[in-house]
Amino acid sequence: MEFGYPPSAQRLRADVQAFLAERPPETWPHDAMDGGYGTGAYSFEFLRALGARGWIGLTWPSRWGGAGRPMIDQLALMEELALAGAPFGPLAGSDQWAQSLIREGNPTLQADLLPRIAAGEALAWQGYSEPDAGSDLLALTTRARRDGDEYRIDGHKIWSSEAGACTHGMVLARTTGVEEAGSRAGGLTMFVVPNDAPGLTLRPIVSLTGEVYHYEAFLDDVRVPAWRIMGRENEGFRELLKGLDRDRFWGRFCKPPALARQLSLLRRHVAADLAGQPAMARRLVELEAEVDATRLLFHRFGWLLDQGIPTPYESALYKTMADELGQRVANLALDLLGSDILLDGPGAPLGGAMRQLYLTSVGQTIAGGTSEVLRTTVATRGLGLPRNDAPPAGARGRHP
Ligand SMILES: Cc1cc2nc3c(=O)[nH]c(=O)nc-3n(C[C@H](O)[C@H](O)[C@H](O)COP(=O)(O)OP(=O)(O)OC[C@H]3O[C@@H](n4cnc5c(N)ncnc54)[C@H](O)[C@@H]3O)c2cc1C
Repeated sequence: MEFGYPPSAQRLRADVQAFLAERPPETWPHDAMDGGYGTGAYSFEFLRALGARGWIGLTWPSRWGGAGRPMIDQLALMEELALAGAPFGPLAGSDQWAQSLIREGNPTLQADLLPRIAAGEALAWQGYSEPDAGSDLLALTTRARRDGDEYRIDGHKIWSSEAGACTHGMVLARTTGVEEAGSRAGGLTMFVVPNDAPGLTLRPIVSLTGEVYHYEAFLDDVRVPAWRIMGRENEGFRELLKGLDRDRFWGRFCKPPALARQLSLLRRHVAADLAGQPAMARRLVELEAEVDATRLLFHRFGWLLDQGIPTPYESALYKTMADELGQRVANLALDLLGSDILLDGPGAPLGGAMRQLYLTSVGQTIAGGTSEVLRTTVATRGLGLPRNDAPPAGARGRHP
């Protein structure tokens, strides 16, 4: 088995290293928070620099201005950026948005958005969750009704990551009632709503780090033209499911290289003390091995996706593993360095890197599907165990 990258990806890695040597990661300004996924903070200048090199549309077909390169090259690009701690926050999400537009977008949406995404000038947030619809997404109550050539959307979304730093929202809304649609999964439509649409208000939510990461979105008679539907009317949930595996994969692919970087920072910082703490040293080495193994699982998953092989449970399993691993690395940092890792500012240990890891890792086993719900996916779809549709006590009658 060949564990290394093929020559084209090796060359790309060298190009990325040269680009980062010219202007190191810490010299780029930050525009929005590092969410802890391994992709760093949002830096619009950095994103535009990636766009100028053709690295945002690396794998897109040339018809859409892409370079048509293989997926393995994209894995190499993302991994190299994560290992260096670069502020490429929205890159994976941008690419996924563009890939959905290429697959499912209408020509007007494609012409409007793909060039801007490729240049690093358009970014999307996800408007799925609502105050009473999280794990049970199909309980959402945001409505859109047709009015001539437009739709009028009313509703309330919550926990939309980095919405205020983006240009558009992907808003899931009910366009046909459950009874008429025949099921809760039918009758939902995905809209691409510009952030400056009249009637859309974004309210920031301060995160544990003290920065703004999440937003609530209030939609009060927001009017969007019908061409702003992504995919087909009433088939929004199917569209969402199609992209979910990819989202979970790309959303966590950079975590193992970022954790490897953080473990190596930690190892260097505590090296002198480790000799006298064999139990801690063992935990550190075990976590390093787990990070390596998780990295390989993500590469395997990338290969499965690239080959078009069905992945009924893998993204749920690997995402949960990566997020729980991140929490264990953060806990080790706390045990090794004490509560000082939570300090902010110039005197913070390791420049505050462990603070960010510790505080952001808390929400990651909730984001994109909670570990509890995803374990059910692995149990039923992976292990073939029977479903128990009885809602857990206190979960407001929900099921995933
Ligand atoms: C960091 C972060 C980023 C996020 N980004 C976005 C975003 O960009 N866009 C967006 O739309 N949303 C986003 N979310 C919201 C996220 O998708 C929801 O928080 C998540 O789906 C859980 O929903 P909930 O918060 O309503 O919890 P609930 O669904 O109410 O769950 C509460 C508890 O009950 C458990 N539970 C619920 N149902 C079951 C079940 N059937 N079996 C077992 N246990 C169950 C859950 O595991 C959890 O422990 C984000 C959340 C976080 C933390």
